[in-house]
Amino acid sequence: MTATAKVFLVGAGPGDPDLITLKAVKALQQAEVVLVDDLVNPALLAHCPQARIVPVGKRGGCQSTPQHFINRMMIALAEQGQTVVRLKGGDPFVFGRGGEEMLALRAANIAYEIVPGMTSGLASCASLEVPVTHRAFNHGVTLVTGHTQDGESLPWQALVASNTTLVIYMGMQHLPEITRGLIQAGMSADMPCMVVENGTRPEQRAVISSLQAMPYLAHTEGLKSPAIIVVGEVVTLARNTQQEQDWQESLQAWRSLADAA
Ligand code: SAH
Repeated sequence: MTATAKVFLVGAGPGDPDLITLKAVKALQQAEVVLVDDLVNPALLAHCPQARIVPVGKRGGCQSTPQHFINRMMIALAEQGQTVVRLKGGDPFVFGRGGEEMLALRAANIAYEIVPGMTSGLASCASLEVPVTHRAFNHGVTLVTGHTQDGESLPWQALVASNTTLVIYMGMQHLPEITRGLIQAGMSADMPCMVVENGTRPEQRAVISSLQAMPYLAHTEGLKSPAIIVVGEVVTLARNTQQEQDWQESLQAWRSLADAA
């Protein structure tokens, strides 16, 4: 039997294939097997033509591969002596269950290395020229999931009181509840809000509006996952350099909505 090899838990970055780290590329180049999430840009697999690729994300609306199955597969492959890359969208430890995968590897005594990645929420903001922190506007940024495991509601009061930019992952299915929760907890209904779909990819779309109008606008624009929701004054600094025209249209839609109200 060959010696046990290593598992790399690698962040693939937000989508733009140039936004991957050199360390991630080096791990891909030495991989024998790559277990890939569905949010990963397939263009990145050009870095590992030698490797066997195993997709483990959601496909065609099917359920995602169960987490315990992914954990078992990583461990089994490493025990066979294979160099494994577990390639995850964004940063492996930001809402990606990377923590669970690391603990499974630890428990099985498998050698592993964490390769950080650029998380989609922050990269999407930067690509739209939104500084998530800016001392004229806020005290920081909060990354939060819009989809809690047990359907429990988010700590709205605390989020509003934090006076930070909110970057909400996995929130599109619950957009009306999220905006309502924030407004009921005291946030201004006019607080600037932005949704970025497919951030940093060529097909990126962004919509900006007031917090209150966003569920309506997201619905009429047909915005869907993967998307992040950004809430805070810093959104007023946004500029969509990639799709100026769509951007202007979305701003106009918002203005006419505001005028009609
Ligand atoms: N680990 C990932 C997040 C995984 S959770 C990271 O650090 O980015 C999945 C959620 O990430 C999606 O529901 C969406 O909210 C967000 N997301 C991932 N890629 C995205 C992208 N290119 N644009 C906008 N949101 C994205």
